[in-house]
Amino acid sequence: MNAADLFVQPPLLQVRAVSKHYAARAVLERVSFDIRRGEIVSLVGPSGCGKSTLLRVLAGLDRDFEGEIVLDGLPQDGPSPRLGVIFQEPRLLPWLSVADNIAFSAGPRRGADPRVGQLLDEVGLAGTDAALPKQLSGGMAQRVALARGLFSQPDLLLLDEPFSAVDAMTRCRLQDLLLSLTRAHGTAALIVTHDLDEALYLSDRVLLLNTTGQHGAGRLVREIDVDAPHPRDRRDDALADLRNDLLVGMGAAQNAYA
Ligand code: ADP
Ligand code: MG
Repeated sequence: MNAADLFVQPPLLQVRAVSKHYAARAVLERVSFDIRRGEIVSLVGPSGCGKSTLLRVLAGLDRDFEGEIVLDGLPQDGPSPRLGVIFQEPRLLPWLSVADNIAFSAGPRRGADPRVGQLLDEVGLAGTDAALPKQLSGGMAQRVALARGLFSQPDLLLLDEPFSAVDAMTRCRLQDLLLSLTRAHGTAALIVTHDLDEALYLSDRVLLLNTTGQHGAGRLVREIDVDAPHPRDRRDDALADLRNDLLVGMGAAQNAYA
């Protein structure tokens, strides 16, 4: 992107002063940030600070909030094919084949769509079109979920702890797969994770949410840029420094409430 583009291109996603209550209880307090096209952003923070709540709001799955979500200049009101959503569990429909699961947003039996084969190839599962979800390992099922998330050719993937349920080795492979997929498709991503190392390995920017708002509501307390080039070394000293910075931000709320 050149300097001129910065002036004409609005951010892909604009999150403006999003607040959210469950009954009388505030869980998010005036959360604002942008995501640029193709940018990989992680959202980290302690358990219960509102990460999943925020992701559901952004995905259009929860419309009971204050504030505004703007995608490509247009206020959002509900789910959109321009957003792909991936959860911790693959959430595949057990009675549908892998191919039909991937194409489900187009209809219940659309697995013959040529894009399905291409996506299966990209996620390393070529030839599994007809398999049923119960025949897949956890890592394979999450690859299918990634392919399904990309099927509608979204501009932005929203991922909630996507690799938390798989073993460490599979997790590393899935992280690399996510990076190659987002790069190949030019897709931006917002990744919720409680794993700081995962956030620093994957992201251009890390947002830290913490319970520092009124009555412990989640607020954005830190934003750090991660400039290290890819492929990144997971043991990079510069990443370790950023990790410490985030840990301090994580502890700030605990100290305040101690
Ligand atoms: P995180 O994903 O960061 O762990 P969540 O977004 O799941 O946090 O939850 C934020 C807070 O909102 C937590 O205190 C949780 O107990 C509460 N919460 C989440 N979902 C609901 C709900 N459906 N009704 C009431 N409270 C909820
Ligand atoms: Mg959560």
